[in-house]
Amino acid sequence: MAIERTLSIIKPDATRRNLTGKINAKFEAAGLRIVAQKRIHLTIAQAEAFYGVHKARPFFAGLVAFMTSGPVVAQVLEGEAAVTKNRDIMGATDPKKAAPGTIRAEFAEDIEANSVHGSDATDTAAQEISFFFSGIEIVG
Ligand code: GDP
Repeated sequence: MAIERTLSIIKPDATRRNLTGKINAKFEAAGLRIVAQKRIHLTIAQAEAFYGVHKARPFFAGLVAFMTSGPVVAQVLEGEAAVTKNRDIMGATDPKKAAPGTIRAEFAEDIEANSVHGSDATDTAAQEISFFFSGIEIVG
């Protein structure tokens, strides 16, 4: 299996409840390495740009308001099949449907405030990583 990198975001509901360490522990226990990480407060324009693919969705405005409601922790995770491995660790978008032991099952508040973002494919991962990080900030 190939070593990949994926973009992860610990969302405002999780930073507010001081869950960054507990979430990072799950990544590390599963063999993912945090090779870049920074805590930032997204502007509305940044959140709209990041979630541009969802612009037409009815939840877009609420999602942007939520993602700018507090700090987030953007990070690059590296490891074997990191994109799908991270999606497995995160669990389903709706925490009611997330498998036991996943981040969203344990920590998410609801389908919107669901604690983490993770890239859904290797090509989107590359785009999303470059949205937040320059090459010099990623230390494998
Ligand atoms: P993800 O890849 O599992 O994060 O899910 P999506 O890419 O489909 O959606 C992006 C984000 O939009 C989710 O993580 C949620 O924060 C939010 N979201 C998705 N579906 C809904 C919904 O039906 N209602 C609301 N309020 N938010 C949603």
